Amino acid sequence: MGSRRLDFYLERLIAEEQFSFYRGIADFADAEIAPHLLEWERSGVLLPREAIDGMARLGLFGIAIDEEYGGQGGGLTELVLMGLAIGYHSHSAAITPGAAVSLGAKPIAGWGSDAQRREHLGDLASGRRMVVFGLSEPGRGSDAANPQVAAERSGDHWVIRGEKCWSTNAAWASHVVVHALTAPAAPNGKRSTCFIVPVRSPGVHYEEMSGKTVWRQSSTGSITFDGVKVSSAQILGELHGGFKIMVNTLNGGRLFIAGLALASLAFALDKVRRYAQERRQFGDQPIARFQRVQDVVLEMDIALERNLSWLMHLAREFDAGKATREQFAKVKIDSSRVASHLLVEAMEICGGVACLDEFGLSRHHNDLFVTRVGEGSNRALMTFSARPLFDDCADLLQ
Ligand SMILES: Cc1cc2nc3c(=O)[nH]c(=O)nc-3n(C[C@H](O)[C@H](O)[C@H](O)COP(=O)(O)OP(=O)(O)OC[C@H]3O[C@@H](n4cnc5c(N)ncnc54)[C@H](O)[C@@H]3O)c2cc1C
Repeated sequence: MGSRRLDFYLERLIAEEQFSFYRGIADFADAEIAPHLLEWERSGVLLPREAIDGMARLGLFGIAIDEEYGGQGGGLTELVLMGLAIGYHSHSAAITPGAAVSLGAKPIAGWGSDAQRREHLGDLASGRRMVVFGLSEPGRGSDAANPQVAAERSGDHWVIRGEKCWSTNAAWASHVVVHALTAPAAPNGKRSTCFIVPVRSPGVHYEEMSGKTVWRQSSTGSITFDGVKVSSAQILGELHGGFKIMVNTLNGGRLFIAGLALASLAFALDKVRRYAQERRQFGDQPIARFQRVQDVVLEMDIALERNLSWLMHLAREFDAGKATREQFAKVKIDSSRVASHLLVEAMEICGGVACLDEFGLSRHHNDLFVTRVGEGSNRALMTFSARPLFDDCADLLQ
């Protein structure tokens, strides 16, 4: 079968050099990620070091980090293209540099002091360091403005206590940006501060979360802070300004997650159209002859073209400092929902074989679930995305 349908659309949506950039990463994923996925899955390992090093050599941890710090430059558009190229095979592999950049390096690039940027960005761009985005907690997911992890002032330093969870890249992390309560009595959104904490600090404990059935090669950790002493120099951005950093960081992350959802849809589309032409029944006819089969494939193709155009438009808007948080949320909500719905339809077209791990669709089926809850659960995002539509009675909405 011919080239990927994803490439057909991207070639028409982005500049020539961006397409070459995307193709280079897709070739790497075809050669260095795809052939090993089944073995990694069946043996239950996290992404091996060689795979991470390979992505680092390709400069993937430096996408969207300024060249003055050794990054590749570029912006969120390039990061989304990386997510499409690698996520086509594996969300786990794509999210490793994806989260390292969009959730780890970006807050430091955006809100760090000169000293913090000089200290971290070079090593982050090369993949020698990774920073974890420490927002979610066992008792706080969507209600992120009210962390239970707290930092108490003690003389000239701070002491952090509590637990963060669902921390992507924790196994490989050098630092965690901890979002902690610092002003419990302050108004909502002004109660917390972000601290950059080395994971090797006394009192920091990491454990890989067990039993995870999604993003299986991605590290997802639980990190506890048992009276961890930090100085004011470790504050990222302003004191009590932590929530603003976290929510703004998530805007870019949501575009990356929307890209992962569309990467799964693109993989499923290629898989199902190939299968429908090869599988013959009822008088040795390919099942692609059945109009009901064609309908599903066409629906997938329409959704891919529509949402890809929308996503690349918003990625450019993000890079230009435009668009609203609701727009970023809406493309994530819609891409994750439409891709998960159509992936199940695609599996049905492929029949029993779709249940086999080697067929690849069940991996995308599981991984797509994360795109519905990760970087803000869709339903929580819908709550704030509806507000601008009812501006006359905004006070009545939550
Ligand atoms: C694989 C994986 C990786 C992750 N990586 C990270 C990471 O690196 N860093 C990090 O900080 N977090 C990470 N997360 C956490 C993720 O961001 C949270 O799972 C997400 O924010 C939802 O929080 P929750 O799971 O606690 O669900 P809850 O907040 O408990 O919500 C449960 C459900 O309640 C409903 N709901 C909740 N609030 C509202 C509302 N306001 N309006 C309407 N409905 C609502 C929704 O249906 C929602 O799905 C990761 C999660 C996964 C699964």
